[in-house]
Amino acid sequence: MTKNTDIPYKIYLSEDEMPRSWYNVRADMPVKHDPMLNPATLEPVTKEDLEKVFCSAVVEQELNQTDRYIEIPEDIRNFYKMYRPSPLVRAYCLEKALDTPAEIYYKFEGNNTSGSHKLNSAAAQAYYAKQEGLTSLTTETGAGQWGTALSMACAFFGLDLTVFMVKVSSEQKPHRREVMRTYGAKVIPSPSDTTECGRAILKAHPGTGGSLGCAISEAVEVAVSTPNCRYGLGSVLDHVLLHQSVIGSESKIALDKYGVHPDIIIGCAGGGSNLGGLISPFMGEKLRGERDYRFIAVEPASCPSLTRGKYLYDFGDTGKITPLMKMYTLGCDFIPSANHAGGLRYHGMSAVVSKLYHDGYIEARSVEQTSVFKAAEMFARTEGILPAPESSHAIRAAIDEALKCKENGEKKAILFGLTGTGYFDMTAYKKFNDGEMSDYIPTDEEIEKSVAQLMPYNK
Ligand SMILES: *Cc1c(COP(=O)(O)O)cnc(C)c1O
Repeated sequence: MTKNTDIPYKIYLSEDEMPRSWYNVRADMPVKHDPMLNPATLEPVTKEDLEKVFCSAVVEQELNQTDRYIEIPEDIRNFYKMYRPSPLVRAYCLEKALDTPAEIYYKFEGNNTSGSHKLNSAAAQAYYAKQEGLTSLTTETGAGQWGTALSMACAFFGLDLTVFMVKVSSEQKPHRREVMRTYGAKVIPSPSDTTECGRAILKAHPGTGGSLGCAISEAVEVAVSTPNCRYGLGSVLDHVLLHQSVIGSESKIALDKYGVHPDIIIGCAGGGSNLGGLISPFMGEKLRGERDYRFIAVEPASCPSLTRGKYLYDFGDTGKITPLMKMYTLGCDFIPSANHAGGLRYHGMSAVVSKLYHDGYIEARSVEQTSVFKAAEMFARTEGILPAPESSHAIRAAIDEALKCKENGEKKAILFGLTGTGYFDMTAYKKFNDGEMSDYIPTDEEIEKSVAQLMPYNK
């Protein structure tokens, strides 16, 4: 029960100690996840199918299930050095406020202008596109973190970028749009009249505020019909998790320096990329039988893909244009209630995270947004950082685990991922501060209805 007080508030790594490779957890998974399928044939997608949409290096990484380590090219490592290594913080002040015997650590990824971990994959995707002689990328963004991250990376590597931003978000978050434009991106509210599918949607639903699915369809349409242009995605896919493994590798190097082995590792889960990246190197040890850890995925009760979804083949988008992925899903038609303010709105979950959860290596829990914002408030007041609502799901679970340790007199080490800052989420914070935030939990019928539509693809 003695506290390990030799540990500094921040455990720094030098640039030389930063990881030189990404860690590919699939190499250590005894059973791999099922392959992506072409929805027209229900046959596994080919490299050629994917290369129409994504650049080749990224496709190769997407399909690579065997190489444990993949070297991070020097130019990407140099880009990382502008904002990495990210701080690994011992949450002494939070521990004190909770009066817990637990040690709490968090890996803070909000220390760059995009405000989240998404820059780790944006840098890689822009670098490879440039290497392959492409001149532009397209993408979609909802809340705006991914669009901002890719804008920064494209500015750095010298690529044009078009971001289709869900129309309601671009109206609600005009400042996000200006950040992207400052980095040189062209931001188009979606649906737009610049694409065929945008025009079709506008005709069918005049005045619509748009959706992520619709923005994806527009971005992919432009990517496949423009010379030297490809599309970039900010979560869910295996190559994104691979790039995000830098979070886990840095955390592990830092904790190993002080002989700290976390008992519990916690991440919020939207599409699964920060969680997958944070846990990967630790999961590798567990899969190889070297050390045991508890991993906890935390999702919103209003969008509970792991805890209440089904493990089925589903589309990656609401527009049903992507390949089918085997994952825990609420059905691609599922849209979380409008009063849900906390991000993590994706209907599905990374195939890697889904498989590890299905096979019992990861636990999952869902939390209600009012309790998430209470955790955010406590964290802001003790540790000083204003957390993103998404990240605050992990804070909630870390606090709950630390309180359990207090009850049981257990001195566990808890590590969680603090994925970003919440400066652009003030509308949600305002609702919470005004006492106007409510919780909405979908009914079983709602979930069953959207999942039932997947049956034709799951014969
Ligand atoms: C995008 C985002 C998430 C969720 O995405 P994952 O792919 O599940 O990691 C979490 N936190 C922040 C701050 C984000 O921007």
